[in-house]
Amino acid sequence: MQNWEKNLREITPYVPGEQPDFPDMIKLNTNENPYPPAPGVAAMLKEMKTEKLSLYPNPCAKLLVNELSAQYKIAPERIFVGVGSDDVLGMIFMTCFCSDKPILFPDITYSFYDVWAKLFRVPYETVPLDKEFRIRKEDYRKENGGIILANPNAPTSIAEGLDFIEDIVQRNQDSVVVVDEAYIDFGGESALPLLDKYENLLVVQTFSKSRSMAGMRIGYAFGSERVISAIYAVRNSYNSYTMNYPSIMCGAEALKDREYFEECIGKVVATRERVKRELRELGFSFPDSKTNFLFVTHESVPAEELFTMLREHHIFVRYFKTPRIDNYLRITIGTDTQMNRLLEVLKGYLGKR
Ligand code: PMP
Repeated sequence: MQNWEKNLREITPYVPGEQPDFPDMIKLNTNENPYPPAPGVAAMLKEMKTEKLSLYPNPCAKLLVNELSAQYKIAPERIFVGVGSDDVLGMIFMTCFCSDKPILFPDITYSFYDVWAKLFRVPYETVPLDKEFRIRKEDYRKENGGIILANPNAPTSIAEGLDFIEDIVQRNQDSVVVVDEAYIDFGGESALPLLDKYENLLVVQTFSKSRSMAGMRIGYAFGSERVISAIYAVRNSYNSYTMNYPSIMCGAEALKDREYFEECIGKVVATRERVKRELRELGFSFPDSKTNFLFVTHESVPAEELFTMLREHHIFVRYFKTPRIDNYLRITIGTDTQMNRLLEVLKGYLGKR
């Protein structure tokens, strides 16, 4: 090893789902929305004046923040926006988890949390989910330097109710409690109504799932003015211009079309409920998903075998080879046509086996 190499940071990074590129593929591995963004977004991109790109964007993404403020009836000072909720969550880890006490999160959850904890040298403790993959709220009654929960949780797809979340926030008023609501719009109960009661609560959401804009990279957090201004101070000590002009403009445009948003969610949820019934008939079981994905296991065929078989058919789903969940597949809800193809391939394979 060269001497300079000793100064390199060594870290095992988060590994996102692969982005394969086959013309005939069915991509159900990264929980993207199968429908396009609101029509206003395409119109905005067409009209956008390229001379605007020679200027720096507004550092606070004012237009987008104001539109979020109007839609969610939350003051602009209580909104932080970032480059996808990954950026928002990373900033929150840097800003809010500076205690010597460990932060807490479930052992099975979004696998970026432990990577950020290691990156930012935040001590952490994982709290096991129960046998049914449920969070036990009683386990969050010990000393901690912060709490982060995905609700609905990923990859389990299970949503906990508002009272459940409030119990955890209420009993942890000496820490910042972060609720990552990446999938909330598909049927969960948001913690937003708790914001006026608890200054230590942060609710994080994204345009990547329910608004079909993963490629635009827009995420946001709602919280008290105190905590939001602390996050901006850290962000502005690192990079002032995280949000690019097209994302700000298109994000604001997407928010205006409530009807399209609800229509898309309705379609995903209807497909999800039908696919649940059909998968059950094929011998699969799964928690009752409130997200745009299903977390399934088969009564006799190992998940890894199904993952490989589906891949050969260019149907991509997510498989995590990690303890407790290595016999499960996470399947994103696609269009009806995509899901019919998935069901047909599964039926064919399981019938012959
Ligand atoms: N939180 C959870 C639970 C997720 O599954 C994802 C998607 N990978 C994210 C946050 C980040 O999504 P994005 O950065 O696209 O907003």
